[in-house]
Amino acid sequence: MVENDKMKAKEYDGFGSVAIHAGHQQDPLYAHQVPIYASSTFVYDEAEQGMRRFSGQEDGFIYSRWGNPTFVEAEEKIAALETFGIGKNGMPLQVKAILQASGMAAITCMLLSCLKAGDKILTHYSLYGGTEELITKILPPLGISAIITDLRDLNKAEETIRNDKAIRLLYIETPANPTIQCVDIEALSQLAKQTNLLVACDNTFATPYLQQPFRYDVDFIVHSTTKFLNGHGTAIGGVFVGRDIDFMRTRAYQMAKTLGGSANPFDAFLLINGMKTLEVRMERHCHNAMEVAHYLAQHPAVSKVNYVGLSSHPDHYTAMKQMRHPGPMLSFELKDGLQAGINFMNKLTMCVRTVSLGTCDTLLSHPASMTHYSVPKEEKEKYGITDGLIRMNVGIENVQDILTDLNQALS
Ligand code: PLP
Repeated sequence: MVENDKMKAKEYDGFGSVAIHAGHQQDPLYAHQVPIYASSTFVYDEAEQGMRRFSGQEDGFIYSRWGNPTFVEAEEKIAALETFGIGKNGMPLQVKAILQASGMAAITCMLLSCLKAGDKILTHYSLYGGTEELITKILPPLGISAIITDLRDLNKAEETIRNDKAIRLLYIETPANPTIQCVDIEALSQLAKQTNLLVACDNTFATPYLQQPFRYDVDFIVHSTTKFLNGHGTAIGGVFVGRDIDFMRTRAYQMAKTLGGSANPFDAFLLINGMKTLEVRMERHCHNAMEVAHYLAQHPAVSKVNYVGLSSHPDHYTAMKQMRHPGPMLSFELKDGLQAGINFMNKLTMCVRTVSLGTCDTLLSHPASMTHYSVPKEEKEKYGITDGLIRMNVGIENVQDILTDLNQALS
């Protein structure tokens, strides 16, 4: 496993500087930007060098499924962002990131690295659909099961942990996709640590600019880098970051190498460039989201706005305790249900009809006619998905243009 050494010696005062410079090494041929090392394998000066590399006596790249120089810059940048300003006695917290081909690959690799048959995961409702499917359908035949409950209720969380000694890992996603529910990272992590549970947090919606779960002693952070970290919708990717460096270099690295869900150099390059503007993008996303939330809250066609930045949201306090700003994601309900949702979506001119998030442009989806079209009504309602619900990734366009498009589409 090859790591850069520049960042370990250098500290920056601002998050934005870390986002731009952390993880970067001077290229031996003086290229300004990190090269895309499009090479599946790496060569040796002599057979003995191959021997030293394979035995671990010498650092160096071997095969891109095991590591690649372009991945290293992305991994070290993410590690630096997730730990920016965190440390003890002047020593920055040391963590290790492993880049993967997708958010799902990162979550799978992280869970399989630390769980075995007989272990249980404690988690909450309203996880990203893919994660829920992994936990409820793919892992149980391997002997790893899940307890899913409302972790916003801390008493219930404590009781569940106390009553089931097989629980090995607490898995949280906050804010969660698609309902934007939030759980209290600090309180849950403290509860979990009383019985030595591992804690993993999906930080995709917040990004390290808005929320740093390592402040609350979580063990692992996972991301779909496809979203705000990349920021431009140009590549699928994922990462998991761990604070037990030995574990990350051994068991987790072995799992990543063997499962083979490794990233690719071009996507890593796109991710590195996207992350450089994370701070300015998130500031603008959040500013625009707040304006949009206020606008929608007073619109006669809208019955409800779900935005954790509004004091009316049940998780407002939790979100504001652990997040710098309430984020770019919100949802709202149209009074007139399914047809109103379809009409609204069809009238959008600048804002984009699609299901993903994390891009510069404003994206809207209508779960009832898109992602959840074939899900039975009672199922949808369990997840708070009503016929008139619209999910919105508020982009970084001029906010007036976003409001103008929403206004004409709602009229
Ligand atoms: N976690 C969250 C919160 C997500 O929203 C997603 C995808 O939407 C994932 C994980 C999975 O990421 P990917 O699509 O990159 O595999």
